[in-house]
Amino acid sequence: MADLPLIEADPEIAQCIADEEQRQHDKLRLIPSENYASSAVQEACGSVLNNKYSEGYAGKRYYEGQQNIDTVEKLAIERHKSLFGVDHANVQPYSGSPANLAVYFAFCNPGDTIMGMGLPSGGHLTHGWKVSISGKYFNAIQYGVSPGDHLIDFDEVASLAREHRPKLLFCGATAYPRVVDFAKFAEIAQEVGAILVADIAHISGLVAGGAHPSPVGHAEVISSTTHKTFRGPRGGMIMCDDKHRKAIDRAVFPGLQGGPHNGTTAGIAIAAKLASTDEFKAYAKAIVDNSHVLAETLVSRGFDLVTGGSDNHLILIDLTGKDVPGKVAAQALDRAGMVANYNSVPFDTRKPFDPSGVRLGTPAITSRGMGSDEMKRLGNWMADVVDDVENEAVISRIAGEVKELCDQFPAPGVPVR
Ligand SMILES: *Cc1c(COP(=O)(O)O)cnc(C)c1O
Repeated sequence: MADLPLIEADPEIAQCIADEEQRQHDKLRLIPSENYASSAVQEACGSVLNNKYSEGYAGKRYYEGQQNIDTVEKLAIERHKSLFGVDHANVQPYSGSPANLAVYFAFCNPGDTIMGMGLPSGGHLTHGWKVSISGKYFNAIQYGVSPGDHLIDFDEVASLAREHRPKLLFCGATAYPRVVDFAKFAEIAQEVGAILVADIAHISGLVAGGAHPSPVGHAEVISSTTHKTFRGPRGGMIMCDDKHRKAIDRAVFPGLQGGPHNGTTAGIAIAAKLASTDEFKAYAKAIVDNSHVLAETLVSRGFDLVTGGSDNHLILIDLTGKDVPGKVAAQALDRAGMVANYNSVPFDTRKPFDPSGVRLGTPAITSRGMGSDEMKRLGNWMADVVDDVENEAVISRIAGEVKELCDQFPAPGVPVR
């Protein structure tokens, strides 16, 4: 078999990858769920570990030849246990959504009552939203945020929990710019006999780096992705108290999945090692500091932010007062080299596919080493674009300035030509 390099084996795909490398270098990537995985993580993910089948868990596999895979998976597990201070970690879920599905499968039967934050308030699809399997196969009760301050409405959470007595109570979000109070959720879960699940998909890097309070000690089960603020490969994981170890492991395999993606497992192990360094702690703090400065700059330029600001990695702009729809703003920002995503805001009067908000965050740009000066420039560029959204001359001038800034801050894991 001819073993050609990619450029010869498939020039079309090679070109797509080269173009994407260029895009990831040239643009300010502001989508808060995205990041730059390190070269070491990418190397592991693209390695021969992908050639191996290893259904089961270390020491209890259904295939032979696990001498190296068992070591990889044990390292990933042990590093997570010491990094987060948990009893147990399962690093096999293929991504964040399958991790949550495994949690449901571990504790619930179809039709059982579960509770999570509604999508329009910033919750994730897998927390019981009606189009998701979590909303179709379970009796999903959804809580939200208060109409006034857009903070999680704990009175509503408590009264819904008392009324419906869910088996699982999910907390954690996908578009919430403030700290999640895990202790308050735990109090409510305990009162109604629910298992509290903290989904830290967005903030696991902040938690690992000490820049967001940890759910450990409050939530019996913690689910996450590994590719957002955690800066690992695309993947998922579940951590839990000892008493839930068996249920979680069985739910992931053989309940939901077959063979784990071993290259990804190695990438997760590497990310966990990197996340336990002082350098990563500084990174996590810088993400939050940058988000503060960016939020302040945007407010000073007349933007309304959901909850008025940010104390994590994420900012949700409400454009209702600017009279520019979220999609129009996000598309103009992209042309100017600033890649965010349009998003619903709480109590949005527009439709989900054409909402009033723009969601952005600082994890990826902070990975490039940018700091408060760059955040101020960015906030002002964003305002210049949105305030004059049809002015292509302004947009292309800013795109040039963005490119110059990006050239000064090379991104980890992205080759520069
Ligand atoms: C991103 C996210 C997920 C899903 O992760 P995928 O890897 O996209 O499946 C789950 N929960 C929350 C809160 C998320 O933000």
